[in-house]
Amino acid sequence: MSQDVIGLGAGVSGLVTACLLAEQGQRVLLLEKHGHLGGRAREYRYRGHQIGLGSHLVEDPGDSLTRVCAVLGHELEHSRRSDSMPFWTNGKGWAPIQEQYSGAAKAGLKRCIRALADTPYSELENWNHASLREWMAQHTSDEGVYTVWEAISVLEQITLRPHEHSASENLFTRKMHYEARRTAGYSFWPMGGWDALWHAMVERFQALGGELRLSTPVSRVRVHDGAVRGVRLRSLDGGPAEEIDADRVVVSAPVWDLPRLFDSGALPWDLLARIRMLADNRNRACWIGYWIAAEEPVIAMTEREMASFLSTPRCGLPGFTLNFTGYDPSVSPTGEYLTCVGASFDATERYGDRPWIDRKFAELWDDIEEMMPAARGALWTKPHVVNNYGVINKPGLVGPVRPDTEVRGVEGLWLTGDTTRSRGIGIDKAARAGITTAESVLGRRLPAFAGTVRY
Ligand SMILES: Cc1cc2nc3c(=O)[nH]c(=O)nc-3n(C[C@H](O)[C@H](O)[C@H](O)COP(=O)(O)OP(=O)(O)OC[C@H]3O[C@@H](n4cnc5c(N)ncnc54)[C@H](O)[C@@H]3O)c2cc1C
Repeated sequence: MSQDVIGLGAGVSGLVTACLLAEQGQRVLLLEKHGHLGGRAREYRYRGHQIGLGSHLVEDPGDSLTRVCAVLGHELEHSRRSDSMPFWTNGKGWAPIQEQYSGAAKAGLKRCIRALADTPYSELENWNHASLREWMAQHTSDEGVYTVWEAISVLEQITLRPHEHSASENLFTRKMHYEARRTAGYSFWPMGGWDALWHAMVERFQALGGELRLSTPVSRVRVHDGAVRGVRLRSLDGGPAEEIDADRVVVSAPVWDLPRLFDSGALPWDLLARIRMLADNRNRACWIGYWIAAEEPVIAMTEREMASFLSTPRCGLPGFTLNFTGYDPSVSPTGEYLTCVGASFDATERYGDRPWIDRKFAELWDDIEEMMPAARGALWTKPHVVNNYGVINKPGLVGPVRPDTEVRGVEGLWLTGDTTRSRGIGIDKAARAGITTAESVLGRRLPAFAGTVRY
């Protein structure tokens, strides 16, 4: 065998695992089915603008992707932070979210923050089944305070209703960010964009001896007698399928792609049952959105805002809007601005319901024109519907119900990525899963991450 580890997938988690293992002297072969890097966090050019598929901002207080890059000798340059948090209320329009918890309510928010600081991460594991509001209700009964942290949940987790904002997932994230940055949520845009970052990571990976093969789909992870033997590639020209031997394989494909990668009976039945439950279409985080390019910023209040809403006037869905050009002018041609506005919807009721989705798109556009009038002068718009954002972080769908990184019962097999067990949201969650996986493969904690939360 010419490699120590085969990695499957060059999205965030696969790249992080591969880079950290290569940095530790492992010979890693990384196989990616697409011809591009980044997986769901892929970025591409559209009419001169840099559009990230699943990579808007990342919430990394500094100890995940940023530190991985530092370990690799690459500086991940953070954009400047958001300068306002406008919040839309039907009837009143936009106002700073701080107005939700002014006066006496502020004391309730402070109690929540203090209680969270005093609660160890291990205790937050007891809240995997519960909603954020249930945890907050121990410390405040103020609706405005609930709204503030639930609006953050809409921004981060794109969960919809009060009982659907996960307590543990939100509290882990708040705690990590308060501890590291003294703020509820520290997020940034990587200056220069995501694609440049993924390529910089691959450059370091290859300099460390790693091998990357793009456009190389794996059809099977070969398991025999309870141990990994390697992978079989999908035959692209009808010829015999290439097999590559390895006794350690890390799979970063999301849960909805996992079952078909294994022969029947290869994975422990209970793990497979959980994977299938998580992969159910009704557990997807879903949203509809518009990319909007215009000659003036399409914003709520300021150019570098993090604006959110729990319900718009017509389509009535919760969501957020972001003006990318305000964070990094290089994403757009000179004199143009790029905004994304989106709203999440309930997969249990509406997954694949095309007529309903079409109606919501029309209503959302009318809402956008009312909420951000500069959209009326848009140069172009690009509607998009997303149903592979991730497994939704609802109570009961987070924590230990997710697959652990090391597969018990199959020697040499690890799973990683944002649909496995980790904390955070999106890219951050995927990066943290990747760090945990690299440490698990090595069988020890890496000094650079010794002080970080482990899953
Ligand atoms: C529209 C959208 C918007 C989002 N917005 C944000 C945001 O603003 N901020 C944020 O933090 N997160 C966001 N996310 C979530 C974020 O993109 C994901 O959490 C993150 O990219 C997941 O990374 P991953 O490595 O776990 O999985 P993936 O990115 O899915 O990586 C898995 C990789 O495995 C490859 N693969 C799968 N099967 C095979 C196979 N058989 N052979 C070889 N390769 C294979 C895939 O091609 C892929 O490259 C968004 C997601 C979407 C879809």
